[in-house]
Amino acid sequence: MTTISLRADCANCSALCCMALAFDRSSLFAIDKPAGEPCPNLDACGQCRVHDQRADLGFGGCIAFDCRGAGQRATDLFRAEGGWMKNPALIGPISRVFSDLLRVHDYLSLLEQVEAFDLSPGERDTLAELRMVLERDDASHAEVKAAQGQIDTFLKSLRSHVEAKR
Ligand code: SF4
Repeated sequence: MTTISLRADCANCSALCCMALAFDRSSLFAIDKPAGEPCPNLDACGQCRVHDQRADLGFGGCIAFDCRGAGQRATDLFRAEGGWMKNPALIGPISRVFSDLLRVHDYLSLLEQVEAFDLSPGERDTLAELRMVLERDDASHAEVKAAQGQIDTFLKSLRSHVEAKR
Protein backbone atom coordinates (compact mmCIF):
# COMPACT_ATOMS: atom_id res chain seq x y z
CA MET A 1 0.00 0.00 0.00
CA THR A 2 1.44 3.36 -0.96
CA THR A 3 1.86 6.04 1.71
CA ILE A 4 1.08 8.71 -0.90
CA SER A 5 -2.53 9.76 -1.31
CA LEU A 6 -3.89 8.84 -4.73
CA ARG A 7 -7.14 10.71 -4.13
CA ALA A 8 -7.45 14.22 -5.49
CA ASP A 9 -7.75 16.83 -2.74
CA CYS A 10 -8.74 20.06 -4.51
CA ALA A 11 -8.95 21.95 -1.20
CA ASN A 12 -5.21 21.48 -0.74
CA CYS A 13 -4.23 22.07 -4.36
CA SER A 14 -3.46 25.37 -6.09
CA ALA A 15 -5.75 24.71 -9.09
CA LEU A 16 -2.91 23.19 -11.09
CA CYS A 17 -5.19 21.40 -13.54
CA CYS A 18 -6.84 24.77 -14.29
CA MET A 19 -3.47 26.34 -15.11
CA ALA A 20 -0.84 23.78 -16.13
CA LEU A 21 -2.86 21.70 -18.61
CA ALA A 22 -3.76 22.66 -22.18
CA PHE A 23 -7.35 22.35 -23.42
CA ASP A 24 -8.50 21.90 -26.99
CA ARG A 25 -11.94 23.26 -27.83
CA SER A 26 -14.07 20.12 -28.14
CA SER A 27 -17.07 18.41 -26.60
CA LEU A 28 -15.09 18.41 -23.32
CA PHE A 29 -13.84 22.01 -23.28
CA ALA A 30 -15.60 25.13 -24.51
CA ILE A 31 -12.33 26.96 -25.17
CA ASP A 32 -8.76 26.48 -26.32
CA LYS A 33 -6.25 27.12 -23.55
CA PRO A 34 -2.48 26.70 -23.73
CA ALA A 35 -0.56 24.89 -21.00
CA GLY A 36 0.78 27.22 -18.30
CA GLU A 37 -2.00 29.81 -18.63
CA PRO A 38 -4.74 30.06 -16.02
CA CYS A 39 -8.24 29.26 -17.26
CA PRO A 40 -10.27 32.49 -17.60
CA ASN A 41 -12.86 30.97 -15.24
CA LEU A 42 -10.33 30.78 -12.40
CA ASP A 43 -10.62 33.58 -9.85
CA ALA A 44 -7.77 35.25 -7.98
CA CYS A 45 -8.27 32.92 -5.00
CA GLY A 46 -7.88 29.78 -7.12
CA GLN A 47 -11.60 28.99 -7.20
CA CYS A 48 -13.63 28.16 -10.30
CA ARG A 49 -16.21 30.90 -10.92
CA VAL A 50 -18.42 28.49 -12.87
CA HIS A 51 -17.91 25.37 -10.78
CA ASP A 52 -21.59 24.44 -10.55
CA GLN A 53 -22.29 25.22 -14.20
CA ARG A 54 -19.29 23.49 -15.77
CA ALA A 55 -21.32 20.76 -17.48
CA ASP A 56 -23.81 23.27 -18.92
CA LEU A 57 -21.05 25.64 -20.08
CA GLY A 58 -19.09 22.95 -21.92
CA PHE A 59 -16.42 22.13 -19.34
CA GLY A 60 -17.29 18.49 -18.75
CA GLY A 61 -13.59 17.65 -19.16
CA CYS A 62 -12.89 19.40 -15.85
CA ILE A 63 -15.48 17.23 -14.12
CA ALA A 64 -14.07 14.02 -15.62
CA PHE A 65 -10.43 14.82 -14.89
CA ASP A 66 -8.78 13.04 -11.95
CA CYS A 67 -5.19 13.95 -11.00
CA ARG A 68 -5.06 11.03 -8.51
CA GLY A 69 -3.49 13.31 -5.89
CA ALA A 70 -0.72 14.72 -8.12
CA GLY A 71 -2.09 18.26 -7.72
CA GLN A 72 -1.84 18.55 -3.95
CA ARG A 73 1.54 16.77 -3.97
CA ALA A 74 3.00 19.25 -6.49
CA THR A 75 1.40 22.15 -4.58
CA ASP A 76 3.02 20.97 -1.34
CA LEU A 77 6.46 20.85 -2.96
CA PHE A 78 6.19 24.57 -3.84
CA ARG A 79 4.22 25.81 -0.83
CA ALA A 80 7.26 27.31 0.88
CA GLU A 81 7.91 29.48 -2.19
CA GLY A 82 4.43 31.01 -2.02
CA GLY A 83 2.68 29.15 -4.85
CA TRP A 84 2.35 30.08 -8.53
CA MET A 85 -0.46 32.63 -8.03
CA LYS A 86 1.68 34.83 -5.82
CA ASN A 87 4.87 34.02 -7.67
CA PRO A 88 4.29 33.58 -11.44
CA ALA A 89 7.96 32.61 -11.88
CA LEU A 90 6.89 29.25 -10.43
CA ILE A 91 4.45 28.53 -13.27
CA GLY A 92 7.07 26.73 -15.39
CA PRO A 93 8.68 24.68 -12.60
CA ILE A 94 5.43 23.67 -10.87
CA SER A 95 3.83 22.77 -14.22
CA ARG A 96 6.75 20.47 -15.05
CA VAL A 97 6.60 18.79 -11.63
CA PHE A 98 2.80 18.43 -11.87
CA SER A 99 3.09 16.88 -15.32
CA ASP A 100 5.68 14.35 -14.03
CA LEU A 101 3.55 13.60 -10.96
CA LEU A 102 0.45 12.95 -13.07
CA ARG A 103 2.32 10.06 -14.69
CA VAL A 104 3.83 8.98 -11.37
CA HIS A 105 0.41 8.81 -9.72
CA ASP A 106 -1.01 6.86 -12.67
CA TYR A 107 1.79 4.35 -12.15
CA LEU A 108 1.27 4.26 -8.37
CA SER A 109 -2.42 3.50 -9.02
CA LEU A 110 -1.45 0.62 -11.31
CA LEU A 111 0.93 -0.73 -8.67
CA GLU A 112 -1.83 -0.50 -6.09
CA GLN A 113 -3.95 -2.80 -8.26
CA VAL A 114 -1.02 -5.21 -8.60
CA GLU A 115 -0.97 -5.46 -4.79
CA ALA A 116 -4.13 -7.62 -4.98
CA PHE A 117 -2.39 -10.30 -7.07
CA ASP A 118 -1.00 -13.47 -5.55
CA LEU A 119 2.60 -12.30 -5.95
CA SER A 120 5.72 -14.32 -5.17
CA PRO A 121 8.08 -12.92 -2.50
CA GLY A 122 10.46 -11.79 -5.28
CA GLU A 123 7.65 -10.00 -7.11
CA ARG A 124 6.60 -8.28 -3.86
CA ASP A 125 10.19 -7.06 -3.37
CA THR A 126 10.26 -5.69 -6.93
CA LEU A 127 6.91 -3.98 -6.37
CA ALA A 128 8.18 -2.34 -3.16
CA GLU A 129 11.42 -1.15 -4.82
CA LEU A 130 9.65 0.35 -7.81
CA ARG A 131 7.07 2.06 -5.63
CA MET A 132 9.76 3.54 -3.42
CA VAL A 133 11.22 5.53 -6.34
CA LEU A 134 7.78 6.92 -7.25
CA GLU A 135 7.11 7.95 -3.66
CA ARG A 136 10.34 9.89 -3.24
CA ASP A 137 9.86 13.65 -3.64
CA ASP A 138 13.55 14.06 -4.46
CA ALA A 139 13.62 11.46 -7.27
CA SER A 140 15.03 13.03 -10.44
CA HIS A 141 13.14 13.12 -13.72
CA ALA A 142 15.63 10.54 -15.07
CA GLU A 143 15.10 8.21 -12.09
CA VAL A 144 11.33 8.42 -12.46
CA LYS A 145 11.57 7.75 -16.21
CA ALA A 146 13.81 4.73 -15.59
CA ALA A 147 11.40 3.43 -12.93
CA GLN A 148 8.48 3.78 -15.35
CA GLY A 149 10.33 1.66 -17.93
CA GLN A 150 10.99 -0.97 -15.25
CA ILE A 151 7.35 -0.88 -14.16
CA ASP A 152 6.20 -1.46 -17.76
CA THR A 153 8.45 -4.53 -17.91
CA PHE A 154 7.29 -5.67 -14.46
CA LEU A 155 3.62 -5.30 -15.40
CA LYS A 156 4.17 -7.34 -18.58
CA SER A 157 5.80 -10.07 -16.49
CA LEU A 158 2.60 -10.33 -14.42
CA ARG A 159 0.44 -11.45 -17.34
CA SER A 160 -0.15 -14.87 -15.73
CA HIS A 161 -1.58 -13.19 -12.61
CA VAL A 162 -3.97 -11.16 -14.76
CA GLU A 163 -5.12 -14.31 -16.54
CA ALA A 164 -5.55 -16.11 -13.20
CA LYS A 165 -7.87 -13.30 -12.05
CA ARG A 166 -10.20 -13.74 -15.05
S1 SF4 B 1 -13.68 25.76 -15.93
FE1 SF4 B 1 -13.27 25.91 -13.75
S2 SF4 B 1 -12.56 23.85 -13.15
FE2 SF4 B 1 -12.40 23.99 -15.39
S3 SF4 B 1 -10.29 24.65 -15.76
FE3 SF4 B 1 -11.57 26.50 -15.70
S4 SF4 B 1 -11.43 27.20 -13.58
FE4 SF4 B 1 -10.73 25.06 -13.60
